[in-house]
Amino acid sequence: MQKNFRRLDGMTLPYPLFFPDATRGEVRQLSFEDVKKVGLPGILVNTFHLLRLVGTEKTELAGGIRSHLGWDKAMISDSGGFQIMSIAKKGGDNSTVTDKGVTFTIDGVKHHFSPEDSIKYQMAMRTDLMVVLDDFTPPDATYEEALMTVNRTTLWAKRCKATYLAECKRLNIPRDRRPYLIGVVQGAYFDDLRIQSIRELTEIGFDGYGYGGWVMRDGKFDIATAKLMADNLPKDSVLYGLGIGKPDDIVKCVELGYQIFDCVLPTRDARHGRLYVYKAKEIEKIDVYQDSFYEYYNPRQAQHLEENAPVSTACDCELCMTVTRAELAKRWRERDERVLRLATIHNLRFYAILMEKLGSGN
Ligand SMILES: [Zn+2]
Repeated sequence: MQKNFRRLDGMTLPYPLFFPDATRGEVRQLSFEDVKKVGLPGILVNTFHLLRLVGTEKTELAGGIRSHLGWDKAMISDSGGFQIMSIAKKGGDNSTVTDKGVTFTIDGVKHHFSPEDSIKYQMAMRTDLMVVLDDFTPPDATYEEALMTVNRTTLWAKRCKATYLAECKRLNIPRDRRPYLIGVVQGAYFDDLRIQSIRELTEIGFDGYGYGGWVMRDGKFDIATAKLMADNLPKDSVLYGLGIGKPDDIVKCVELGYQIFDCVLPTRDARHGRLYVYKAKEIEKIDVYQDSFYEYYNPRQAQHLEENAPVSTACDCELCMTVTRAELAKRWRERDERVLRLATIHNLRFYAILMEKLGSGN
């Protein structure tokens, strides 16, 4: 199993890694300085949203999206597919998903997005890791529908790989400076389809493979599918838990060999007043392998108005070092917007500590 993630500039970062969601090139509520301070290695950007905002030409002129935004840490990108598919599927008759790609309409203007486009845009952004365009299998798909998404995902994956190789050649990128290219395994809850998807994608050959599709099953994380993938994918490839997840699910996935994660949960939960708190009283005493090693704290609950302790004593973030539970609860009630920033910092620091603990356990 690979031990380190290699950035385009050659710098390495030890696995496991968690990338917070910076869809439009920023982590909501935070400055880049805030993101650096929480101790996470980089951010995940969304190809579709970002290029709509910035444009490919400006990005290329700046030598990549990182220079354009002024961010000097790691940066990974998604294919843009999930957002485009969501728009396409809501778009009624004007939108279609075919083998050629996705056609959709925004503000009355018709767009086409192909696997080739996804790779070209990600190459223009110069992110450290990029993901192929895949055909998402909905969780309620029938066997036939799931098979269709597996077949189309393979077809698109082949074209993504060919475009990637052609772009690396065109841009004269040496082998050891190329971004990671991640294939996405589809097949929903059908084990034989997941195996088929794995076989077809590994024949094409990718640097790593992602957990595609819906990660929940019957209200719980689908650990069986995560395991099936880890057991059947090449041991020297990178395993990426796309959109995973809750802290305890990440622990289970790291135990299975997954190395990279991204998820909207910590930032979205922070904005909704759902803060993660380790049950241990000190950072040194946190044991992430213990059942229910954390709990939630909600500043809206009236009982916290009287608590003079920090949100967590097993945390060294700006919130926990400067604000008591009582103050936070009061400011939350007053709808003081600044607490959203502090809550986001806290939840991301929780994830950074989680990854540090998991990394030292290897
Ligand atoms: Zn904290």
